[in-house]
Amino acid sequence: MGASCLRQPDTESSRIRITHSLSPGSSVRILIVEDEKKAGAFLRKGLTESGFVTDVAEDGDDGLLNALTLEYDLVILDAMLPGRDGWSVLAEIRRQGKSTPVLFLTARGAVQDRVKGLELGADDYLVKPYAFSELLARVRAVLRRRGERQPDTLQIADLQVDLLRHKVQRSGARLDLAPKEFALLSLLARRQGEILSRLIIAEHVWDMNFDSDSNVVDVAVRRLRRKVDDPFPIKLIHTVRGMGYVLEVR
Ligand code: CA
Repeated sequence: MGASCLRQPDTESSRIRITHSLSPGSSVRILIVEDEKKAGAFLRKGLTESGFVTDVAEDGDDGLLNALTLEYDLVILDAMLPGRDGWSVLAEIRRQGKSTPVLFLTARGAVQDRVKGLELGADDYLVKPYAFSELLARVRAVLRRRGERQPDTLQIADLQVDLLRHKVQRSGARLDLAPKEFALLSLLARRQGEILSRLIIAEHVWDMNFDSDSNVVDVAVRRLRRKVDDPFPIKLIHTVRGMGYVLEVR
């Protein structure tokens, strides 16, 4: 791909959202390659809350390894990285024949950097510092161009999780969830049928590792169940002894 793929950001159409129900187990995976820990954690949190499954790599070599060995729907790639820089990562991804969409993050004013990124095969770029809403719009636009549609609503039995509007319904009744409860439920719902360990849950919902004695996750699940399962005859959140939690219809 050459510089001809450069398009002006289509902000109007980026706001058009398609709601559709999701086939079980499908999710959109995004790799974030960003060495600044705070920026990486911020991106991860925002994208997770928006319904994406994310991994973070903190340098170019790890990022390249992940991008080449795992399947992602999108890579968000910072240009300035320790060791192997973003351009080198991008060039190598394309050289190895991987066509995974890449959203390139560059510094303000560095026009040459952006052109170089696009020439190397980036799908779009974003100039730092950026607003998260703009990044989300670009992510959705890139995915849409590549024919991926991110589900806005997950439906599991009579449970409906609206990832975009952060609304939850069960049997048509609106459930009032705190932000962490919503993050926990949307993680379980996106990965329905998959047993999630306390560690995985802690990393995704709290962006941190709790030591194994911590019962933060158990307490949060109990609170969530009180709202999502207790008032209803069919239970969806299940404990798998010694392993973690799973959301599924049994
Ligand atoms: Ca950087």
